[in-house]
Amino acid sequence: MRIDENLMKVKQELPDQVSLVAVSKTKPNDLILEAYAAGQRIFGENKIQEMCDKHQELPKDIQWHMIGHVQRNKVKYMAAFVSLIHAVDSMRLLKEINKQAKNNNRVIDCLLQVYIASEQTKFGLDKQELLDILGSQEFKEFKNIRIKGLMGMASFTTDKQQIENEFTELNQIYNLIKQDYSGLENIDLDTLSMGMSNDYKIAIDCGSTMVRIGSSIFGDRNY
Ligand SMILES: *Cc1c(COP(=O)(O)O)cnc(C)c1O
Repeated sequence: MRIDENLMKVKQELPDQVSLVAVSKTKPNDLILEAYAAGQRIFGENKIQEMCDKHQELPKDIQWHMIGHVQRNKVKYMAAFVSLIHAVDSMRLLKEINKQAKNNNRVIDCLLQVYIASEQTKFGLDKQELLDILGSQEFKEFKNIRIKGLMGMASFTTDKQQIENEFTELNQIYNLIKQDYSGLENIDLDTLSMGMSNDYKIAIDCGSTMVRIGSSIFGDRNY
């Protein structure tokens, strides 16, 4: 399997304004280095320990994105270097990220994860919970986080119309918060993270600005 060829194929499908997170979870460093050699700099992981190990071992100009569910007690391990946290889904987690960012004298970019799928297994906020967070006084006082946008996952289904409806809903919520909350200092919206290997073309048609692609680049994962 040629990582560089896979990467090129995926990139050909992406408009200029859409950035690519190469999802390298479970994949060894040598495959990541092949993608790196082909010019890829943004990599996504879903386990903090694994991301920390890879960060130590691999080139320092890689931007590491945490795309998985985050446990609060592990934020401290990645706070010094993580480039974007995609799946922030509670006020308590945001508060911990703010605290650990402050300890490291930095501002950490975050996306709020919104629940759009019909399945019960996916994490995320609903629209009202999202608005409650952004509208709260406590949120305004978080000086060490910056909300860059939203992240969402569509249902795991072959029904393209359903996927399209879910991504469209997320795009509408994104536009709504852009309209109503862009004035806050810790909000700087430019990222709508949606789309994976099997649905990223639909996601782009629905307004995605960031896709998270693993198996189309690195091959299937064996768990
Ligand atoms: C694993 C994962 C991806 C990538 O999935 P592929 O189907 O391999 O492209 C994207 N986003 C999240 C949150 C993931 O956990």
